[in-house]
Amino acid sequence: MSDFAQSVKQQADIVKVIEGYVRLRKAGATNYSGLCPFHKEKSPSFSVHAVRQFFHCFGCGVSGDVFTFVSKMENVSFPEAVRIVAQKCGIPLPKKEYSSPEEAAEARMRRKLLDLHEAATVWFEQQLAAPEGAVAREYLTGRGLDAKGIKEFRIGYAPDGFNGLRDYLGKQADVETLRASGLFSQKEHEDGTMGPLYDRFRKRVTFPIANEGGRVIAFTARTLETGEKAGAKYINSPETPLYTKGQVLFNLDKAKGAIRTAGFALLVEGQMDCISVYLRGIQNVIATSGTAFTEMQVNTLKRHTTQLAVNFDPDAAGANAAEKSISLLTEEGFDLKIVTLEDGLDPDRYIRERGLEAYVKAIRGARRQADYLIERARQQFPGQSAEQKVKAMNFLLPHIRRIPQKLVRDQFAADAAQKLGIDSAVLREELRQAALKRQDHIEVKASALTEVERVLLRALAVVDPEFEQVRRMAAQALTEQPALFEALPCCSALVELAQRQAADPMEAVQDEGQRARLAEALLGETKSPGVGEVFSALQEIQERAIGAQLRAIRAQITEAERRADHAETAVLTQQKLELDRALRKLHHQKPPED
Ligand SMILES: [Zn+2]
Repeated sequence: MSDFAQSVKQQADIVKVIEGYVRLRKAGATNYSGLCPFHKEKSPSFSVHAVRQFFHCFGCGVSGDVFTFVSKMENVSFPEAVRIVAQKCGIPLPKKEYSSPEEAAEARMRRKLLDLHEAATVWFEQQLAAPEGAVAREYLTGRGLDAKGIKEFRIGYAPDGFNGLRDYLGKQADVETLRASGLFSQKEHEDGTMGPLYDRFRKRVTFPIANEGGRVIAFTARTLETGEKAGAKYINSPETPLYTKGQVLFNLDKAKGAIRTAGFALLVEGQMDCISVYLRGIQNVIATSGTAFTEMQVNTLKRHTTQLAVNFDPDAAGANAAEKSISLLTEEGFDLKIVTLEDGLDPDRYIRERGLEAYVKAIRGARRQADYLIERARQQFPGQSAEQKVKAMNFLLPHIRRIPQKLVRDQFAADAAQKLGIDSAVLREELRQAALKRQDHIEVKASALTEVERVLLRALAVVDPEFEQVRRMAAQALTEQPALFEALPCCSALVELAQRQAADPMEAVQDEGQRARLAEALLGETKSPGVGEVFSALQEIQERAIGAQLRAIRAQITEAERRADHAETAVLTQQKLELDRALRKLHHQKPPED
């Protein structure tokens, strides 16, 4: 370690640095603990030692010092991590040292792109203040934004022209860097050569998108045109070395402190809603930008809170993304409350028309997700007939199955039975089974592995010929339908185990991280899994795959119905029926005899 790194390490407080990314609780005289940001977990196994200045995760085994942490977190090289920590602690930087030319080039590029985004932000801000920005200022005033709010969110204006930003930034960077920034577009000629760069955002209000550290890494821009010329209402930066779609949560940089204080986050759909709610004093608010949550965003959010109040637009267009997000968040063990606003207003309008206090009240009055869904089931299928009750129940079952914690599932099922007035023993039993059915994911000891992975790893690691059958079952499934397993984090270990020549399974797995997963699966157990266990694990994987297809098809059906495309709806409905059938068939499969 260089002298500089050494001195940064002495001055930096690892607890403070890590707290910028992970919620930590004091867990002892010198220890802090929290949810590990490097693996999925529901109970904290990630510890930080305040005196010895290191972190360790008992779940996934990752450990190191403040630089290891930052380099893993930000996905940057060691020297880059030193630089970031130094900056966080206000320590001035010496000349850089990098271990390879590629690393240096990568760091240089990132830094240049950050500088370009900063410059673009300033330029857009200036254009908003200029006479040409009048139309944009008018729009923003109409949305209730004052100068202070505009300044705080660094909102700007991209004027109506092709070269404004290009000419401005052209003085600071070469064409290659400008192209990589995503701030410009380029047309391909018929002969395959590329035309000149031109401004991507034109006649649009610009909203910077910042990373968790508050640096601008991309833009979203709203059109001010109406009618045919308008194009998409919002356009965003494309993916760049700085910006990966589905990774950033809008406003998390500003909201994270307030989220920690409040103990929950308020999730809204659009940037404008988010900005408006934030500026009126509810600062623990973040937005998804109208698209469905991604797993990356879920993991990002999980580092800050698992308590969410969700306030999505009730309109049909938003409902799809909202429903997907809610499903995913539920599956990931988030505790959701649903905020519903009277008269279908969005948060921005609600606050403007009814006032902040009314909105705060609506958030406080948010219903548990279970209550919300039961209410929806009752509204959609009113009446006391057995038929309606079955329909209501069928609406609820998939939601119940999705909940990872058994206790929560049981409670949900019991509430549903009671509120729907289901007194039939048969129907109650159905509900109870649905609650039982899902694998219980409450983790007694923190683990990077799900039950399914654990069972499959153990099955494929079998060495005793007596248990050869379970190994064969798992290996066969893996050969026949490899795509089903791709989503599992331990997938490559599974493949290597299935193809292994070496007698010792640990020798068969090359990658260190994958080997750690295998070790964990093997350490926890003393004997081979049973045929029934392997069967259930394989069944669950297929169920997930079909479930994902069903979700996609349902979204397509809603979309086709919205377009009144009856032919398409019919085709999709047929596909959905086939998937339903496949799912039913799957549920009726019996495990082979031991
Ligand atoms: Zn971990």
